[in-house]
Amino acid sequence: MLTIYNTLTRRKEEFHPLVEGHVGMYVCGPTVYGDAHLGHARPAVTFDILFRYLLHKGYKVRYVRNITDVGHLEHDADEGEDKIAKKARLEQVEPMEVAQYYTNRFHTAMERLGCLPPSIEPHASGHIIEQIKLVQEIIDAGFAYESNGSIYFDVEKYNKSHHYGKLSGRNLEDVINASRALDGVGEKHNQVDFALWKKAQPEHIMRWPSPWSDGFPGWHCECTAMGRKYLGQHFDIHGGGMDLVFPHHECEIAQAVASQGDEAVHYWMHNNMVTIGGQKMGKSLGNFITLDEFFTGSHPMLEAAYSPMTIRFFILQAHYRSTLDFSNEALAASKKGLDRLFEALKRLDSINIATDAAIGTAYADELEAKCYAAMDDDLSTPQVISHLFDACRTIGQLADHKTTINQEGLERLRTVMHTFTSELLGLHDDAESGNAERETAYAGAVDMLLDLRAKAKAAKDWETSDSIRNNLSELGFEIKDTKDGYSWRLTK
Ligand code: ZN
Repeated sequence: MLTIYNTLTRRKEEFHPLVEGHVGMYVCGPTVYGDAHLGHARPAVTFDILFRYLLHKGYKVRYVRNITDVGHLEHDADEGEDKIAKKARLEQVEPMEVAQYYTNRFHTAMERLGCLPPSIEPHASGHIIEQIKLVQEIIDAGFAYESNGSIYFDVEKYNKSHHYGKLSGRNLEDVINASRALDGVGEKHNQVDFALWKKAQPEHIMRWPSPWSDGFPGWHCECTAMGRKYLGQHFDIHGGGMDLVFPHHECEIAQAVASQGDEAVHYWMHNNMVTIGGQKMGKSLGNFITLDEFFTGSHPMLEAAYSPMTIRFFILQAHYRSTLDFSNEALAASKKGLDRLFEALKRLDSINIATDAAIGTAYADELEAKCYAAMDDDLSTPQVISHLFDACRTIGQLADHKTTINQEGLERLRTVMHTFTSELLGLHDDAESGNAERETAYAGAVDMLLDLRAKAKAAKDWETSDSIRNNLSELGFEIKDTKDGYSWRLTK
């Protein structure tokens, strides 16, 4: 039985979908005005694991992850320029060019990380009508007011009959005290109120007509409106990064309750944050590393390039509710761990079977039960990995003929290792798969150099032969001298 930690109730709960056999899950996606970084990779990988596990359990899953292409202002508190519009202005392109460009790059990065695409990927700008309707419902219910053509949610009034702050564990007083430091209330009745619709300033290019003004929806509206459209008034899981708990998801709860009378979401799930050397990641701190920079190693803080699978494995080695602290040492250790796992998977193919063997099917059965128990325990991927590592040790002993296994036992072990490594954790040997193509492309040139090296060796020109070998190995080609000459493969 799968148990998941519900941020709303603050405890682990058994997962029971609202409709038997079907799961609706909504995850807040990226605001597409810049390249994806580790902070994007973490929720993507976390909810990919949940998606894969629910599918594996036989559920029909509708996974909705939105693209925020409008309404996310520079200062989350309803102020400042739209993030995408600003980028478009600076680069003198259409805002939708910015959104499309970064959406495409986001998709490529997610694919490389091994994340399955969501079932539906709705854009905020494509759902303005639904958002206007939501705002109208909240006005009609008496929980919003108009001010200067903009519409604001009346938090104080809402809080009289409901608890604003229930998700983040705050009460209204805390929120008021925390927001006092900010400048005046402006056109809001109260500083804690949040925008449902903003009247566009004359220079603002992303604008739509509405009953109140030419403008654009507040950021929190899109997820409430699109979640409802694609998953219904009530759905199972809503997820995202912990930084979204307040105000974004808190506001989503208030919007749902104000507009439909009750809450939409059954289980709220949040992944913890990524830190770098214990510090929050941020552009101003100079420690902001994009995924592409990780993949190529092109950032001053990186000592090497780290493959997409190393990044994925690194994320999975921490529980999603723990902080994940980046360092070169931690990533290098992840790479080693991942290599060990794939090495063991390869060695599984070279194990001899024995009839009167020490290991039968019970070993794999137990391994499988332990891995399922770990997954069921709020998706404890670090525990799954530790069980797989234990299995790697056994596989090593089998390959080294220190113990024996029978045919059925070996087949079960292969199945279990494959199910958890590739199907559920979504890991594949990117050194292998990516390199196969490159090896084909380089084959002619590398063979020519190695033929030259063979000739140099035959002529006892050690300087040339060593230099060819060293240069190639520095470029990532591992060369082995064999009886018939040589063999080589790409290792990075
Ligand atoms: Zn959202």
